[in-house]
Amino acid sequence: MTRAPTIDRARRLAFGRKLRAWYRVHHRDLPWRRTRDPYHVLVSELMLQQTQVSRVVLKYAEFLERFPTLESVARARVRQVMEAWSGLGYYARARNLHRLARTVVCDGAPARLPADPAALRRLPGIGAYTAGAVASFAYERRAPLVDTNVARVLRRVFAPRLNPKTSAGARALWQIAEAILPRTGRATYTHNQALMELGALICTARVRHCGRCPVRSVCATYQRER
Ligand code: SF4
Repeated sequence: MTRAPTIDRARRLAFGRKLRAWYRVHHRDLPWRRTRDPYHVLVSELMLQQTQVSRVVLKYAEFLERFPTLESVARARVRQVMEAWSGLGYYARARNLHRLARTVVCDGAPARLPADPAALRRLPGIGAYTAGAVASFAYERRAPLVDTNVARVLRRVFAPRLNPKTSAGARALWQIAEAILPRTGRATYTHNQALMELGALICTARVRHCGRCPVRSVCATYQRER
């Protein structure tokens, strides 16, 4: 199966309501969830791409102390940014951040990352997921996002027969992510954070905690296996 299934309105609304209600009570208090600063959100998203949350928590504040703004990254040499990134691995992310800062910041003037996912995607090192994350988490735009955790949750809930490893399957997951977005940007912020949190804590790659999952009543995998 490679096409996104049609999701009826009642199911979509029930899923969103249950998901967001669960998140409000159970989410982890992570430092990047206390900010709407686009640059800070971007740093957290880049760090989280390949590194465990516990390690990112330790490095995030330290990195932002050294480089508090996009302008400070643009002013630095790439070697200095890489040094501050040490311990996180995958240094291409630090190189890309430096390139991005120099692209966005002109003549050292204060600069702001764009809010539009399409404009964000034109910047160095920003893929579809990161563009959606910055648009949603910094600007509260009504933008979908799909990372590994989200893809797993969406597939299990809405399309268990979908193969996420094919490009058509991946496209279908993005279509599902878009189709189930809440109406407002503000609710979308919570919805996207909650999808990621559910994938990290309840519907994980290794184990499915269906018994305490807030969306089990609308989950196709759970219903099928009962
Ligand atoms: S009910 Fe189970 S399979 Fe479905 S989303 Fe929740 S944890 Fe995942």
